[in-house]
Amino acid sequence: MTSTPEPRGTGRPPGSPPVACEHGPVGTDVSQFARPRRGHFDLGTGYHGDLWLDLDGLFFRPALVRPQARLLADWLRPYRAAAVCGPLAGGAFLAQMVAEDLGAAFVPAYPGPRQPGRFRLPAPAAGDIGGWRVAVVDDAVNAGTAVRASIQAARNAGAVPVAAAALLAVGPAAAAAPRDFGLPFHALAALRSQAWPAGGCPLCRDGIPAERPPA
Ligand SMILES: [Zn+2]
Repeated sequence: MTSTPEPRGTGRPPGSPPVACEHGPVGTDVSQFARPRRGHFDLGTGYHGDLWLDLDGLFFRPALVRPQARLLADWLRPYRAAAVCGPLAGGAFLAQMVAEDLGAAFVPAYPGPRQPGRFRLPAPAAGDIGGWRVAVVDDAVNAGTAVRASIQAARNAGAVPVAAAALLAVGPAAAAAPRDFGLPFHALAALRSQAWPAGGCPLCRDGIPAERPPA
């Protein structure tokens, strides 16, 4: 979803195929559901990037995403998560599908209105999941902001995050995420991209106006 704090842009040379993540198989090309656009984008998260993903498009036809969700559930199954947590918006849609496949509970993580890097869990769930093993899933992982915040929100509720997974790993996320999250991480597909903190964006430095795609 374009309105979440997760940087939504990604980048790859026009016409180049998505790169399969070394962690596992790529079924249908999920990245194409996200209608990638190349350019210079204000990602709305303090970052600028060179590709925009319409992640709302990922869930336009849930039946297309369901097989991908099932692949993620298969990968997560050995981690025996009692709950699957996903940051709103897109991550939560996916987390619900994965939780259903695993027979696990589903917990959305909400971005904090005043502190974008802090997410919160709904009160009833937060009170229930103390000591539970929790998997965190998101539709796309770029800088990892939303997944990191969801992991922290689960820990704050006394849960034990055991693994993280995504449909798409964007840019260096595929390689960096396991270390960054401190958890095993799996993505069905990886896309090359570049993103920079807005203050250090080389495209801005070159005088190229940044586009803010509609949310
Ligand atoms: Zn820029």
